Amino acid sequence: MDCNIVKDLIPLYIDDCCSEESAEEVKRHLDGCAECKAVFDEMSCPTTSESVSVSDKPLKKINDWKASVLQSVLFFASFLLITFGVAAESSSQYTDYFNGFWAIWLVAPVTGFMFSLPNWYFIKFYKDRKSFSRWTCALTLLLIVAATTWTLFHYDQFVTNSGLLEFLKSCLTLGQFIFFICPYHLILTAVLVLFSKVTSSKYAQMLGKE
Ligand SMILES: [Zn+2]
Repeated sequence: MDCNIVKDLIPLYIDDCCSEESAEEVKRHLDGCAECKAVFDEMSCPTTSESVSVSDKPLKKINDWKASVLQSVLFFASFLLITFGVAAESSSQYTDYFNGFWAIWLVAPVTGFMFSLPNWYFIKFYKDRKSFSRWTCALTLLLIVAATTWTLFHYDQFVTNSGLLEFLKSCLTLGQFIFFICPYHLILTAVLVLFSKVTSSKYAQMLGKE
């Protein structure tokens, strides 16, 4: 069979649309002709790669969906915890070093965590999964420290203005603060920072970031 005729028949042959006799002829010709075989390979290749990407698409969509569900759940959970903490804070009547107890140990760390979540929208600017989760983790820590500092000043935890007695009193306050409130705060901060690292890495994985 002539090469040009074979080349004309190749698309029909690939789609299984030519007669049995022609198919036999084309097959026999392809076995013996490198040039036509090359044309055949080139024509049949795109079809296979296309079918692969088509079957990949639904999976990618499901993963994108899962990633946004994960982010929404974290937003919602943070919001609930903050609401709970604010309610507990406003209904408690602490004095002295217990001022802002709920705000410091619960609301501030969770607020820092929640404020780090918008960073997830900028995932495409990070070069890989590792750097994304590392920066998200660092940002979470920074925001928690910022939120805690703001809360400490807001609730006047450290008043070191006038006199030695006042200073000693505020040292006592600091000691009590570290003893009673800081352990919760430090533990929660560590948990949230680690949690931020793990979940952001998971999020990047769902979006197919290497
Ligand atoms: Zn040929």
